[in-house]
Amino acid sequence: MKALQYVEVGAPPQIREVPTPEPGPGQVRLKVTAAGACHSDSFVMGLPEDEYLASYPLPMTLGHEGVGIVDKLGDGAEGVSVGDAVAVYGPWGCGTCYACAQGKENYCERAAELGIRPPGLGIDGSMAEYMIVDSPRHLVQLDGLDPVDNVALTDAGLTPYHAIKGSLGKLGPGSSAVVIGTGGLGHVAIQVLRALTPATVIALDVAQEKLDLAKEVGAHHAFLSDASAKDEITRALGKPTVTAVFDFVTIQPTIDLATSLLGVESDYVIVGVGAGTTQVGMLARPYDATIRSPYWGSRGELIEVLQLARAGLVNVETERFSLDEAPEAYHRLHEGTLRGRAVIVP
Ligand code: NAD
Ligand code: ZN
Ligand code: ZN
Repeated sequence: MKALQYVEVGAPPQIREVPTPEPGPGQVRLKVTAAGACHSDSFVMGLPEDEYLASYPLPMTLGHEGVGIVDKLGDGAEGVSVGDAVAVYGPWGCGTCYACAQGKENYCERAAELGIRPPGLGIDGSMAEYMIVDSPRHLVQLDGLDPVDNVALTDAGLTPYHAIKGSLGKLGPGSSAVVIGTGGLGHVAIQVLRALTPATVIALDVAQEKLDLAKEVGAHHAFLSDASAKDEITRALGKPTVTAVFDFVTIQPTIDLATSLLGVESDYVIVGVGAGTTQVGMLARPYDATIRSPYWGSRGELIEVLQLARAGLVNVETERFSLDEAPEAYHRLHEGTLRGRAVIVP
């Protein structure tokens, strides 16, 4: 079968012919119908060789957003049937620790110790004709949702949904939420905020096309993410602080901007994997401000995100690429010229 693999540290990923994988005991093989390209893949491919090799194998099939048709069941795999259209829940855990028992496999206490890695982020992922999923527990029925339009919900939907749910208690009437970076994750975050909260939503990005997209998907205001942003936000809200900031970039300039917008009891939610940092301390931030860095989301939350899509409340903007065109999708992601999410259709 064909697969998009990262083969050489620092070089672009390549389309290669590899053996079609067989499902082992308890595993499920999917015929992949769509796979999303995430900025985290670019981050991983940008790591220096020693850091990359400490955590990831070579070669590795990319893709941690995947949907497919159940194609073959390993011995003892139960709960799904051949022919089912399913989405892959990516942050696999052990299934038995306290976090996993709550469906929070993204925070599994034992995954590292047991060597359990997400597909595409440590073992072979979804950018191939077929992929192996370690357990039927990590599959959610699509139930009629279009695979290409919805594959990105497994990460670009689930991650902002989980991030926003943690701040829902604060985002009541009169509240405000800033979304920094309205790309794959950010443009879904805007829609989740509009669907779940009455907050005034302000989008910030460095590209005018991204600000246009932000307005189209529901942002009340959209401003350039530069030195003028704080003044623009102050003018729009009539005050200089906001209830919550969701940062999908997290480089030093966005961290500095986000922390300058915090007021008493504000939330600053760091989702991007940029290398910026900030200080906390009793007098370093307004009273009771919270800074957190959530990772992906729970199995239950993936089911909830798919329900939002079925209700028509979340629509992912997608640009389609064939598997052969997948290197180009990553190039466009790197350049920042994609509208929404790049989806590879094998
Ligand atoms: P993306 O490339 O699709 O979107 C990033 C957006 O940020 C683009 O629209 C870009 O124009 C904008 N941007 C760049 N610099 C900016 C700046 N200074 N100010 C404002 N906007 C700026 O990326 P994505 O796939 O949506 O991923 C976003 C981030 O989230 C990445 O860092 C990714 O690694 C991370 N991520 C984290 C998790 C998690 O679990 N925490 C999960 C998935 C992705
Ligand atoms: Zn991702
Ligand atoms: Zn666990």
